Amino acid sequence: MFKNKTAVVTGGSQGIGKATALKLAEGGADIVIIHMGSEEDAKAACAEFEAFGVKSKAIRMDVSDFNAVKEAVAEIIAEFGSIDILVNCAGITRDGLIAMMKEDAFDAVINVNLKGTFNMIKHCTPHFIKQRSGAVVNVSSVSGIMGNAGQANYSTSKAGVIGLTKSTAKELVARGVRCNAVAPGFIATDMTANLSKNNKLADSIPMKRMGTAEEVADLICFLASDKASYITGEVVKVDGGIAM
Ligand code: NAP
Repeated sequence: MFKNKTAVVTGGSQGIGKATALKLAEGGADIVIIHMGSEEDAKAACAEFEAFGVKSKAIRMDVSDFNAVKEAVAEIIAEFGSIDILVNCAGITRDGLIAMMKEDAFDAVINVNLKGTFNMIKHCTPHFIKQRSGAVVNVSSVSGIMGNAGQANYSTSKAGVIGLTKSTAKELVARGVRCNAVAPGFIATDMTANLSKNNKLADSIPMKRMGTAEEVADLICFLASDKASYITGEVVKVDGGIAM
């Protein structure tokens, strides 16, 4: 399904990003992951992608660094020839009530989750326009749709990602580029490790369980694929019904 395509997945070293990169690799895409973790973990992830017979590369880089993203995008295009799929999955949380939240906790989350997504789209855009194609999938959150007490920074960043998704979709639709977002609910990954033992949380979800990274990855891969050729500017929830 993704043969002869190159996919860039930020936050592709673990969790939802890694599950997505694995499925894209299984479909035949060459994979570039962008991460902030250890080189060892990234190498191990690349070995898993390459087991599907595709090329892969890991770049350790902070997505909130505008110039570093510019250089990385140029490096990827030089080495892989193109970027066909961009999945913006890198994200962090620094939860706290507004009354207690420090300025740096607000700025850090906005910088990685929102500005990082902008940086990636911004620097891929000239390439997308030139090749007259591209599929972007941004990872938002139900927190960005509903708001969440204790997550003013995070829900603001994820609401911003929705605005960015729709603006990108409108700006680039005439150039053959689609841009969509997914809005996961509670998904069992490292990010939510401290929540997963809370039974009350599962009770609050209509499906009575947290989702898996693979369930989100399936949706991202669908939106990134030609099967979604008539879908752009959309935000699709994958949340076990929590935000309905
Ligand atoms: P995760 O397991 O913590 O993975 C986060 C990924 O982002 C890691 O690969 C991490 O790299 C990378 N990352 C963090 N800061 C970065 C930076 N400054 N530059 C580049 N990469 C960076 O989290 P996850 O649960 O899979 O979350 C993935 C996305 O889904 C996030 O955007 C998150 O907000 C969103 N989401 C998650 C849930 C959930 O319930 N889990 C719900 C809704 C939305 P390293 O680990 O290598 O440092």
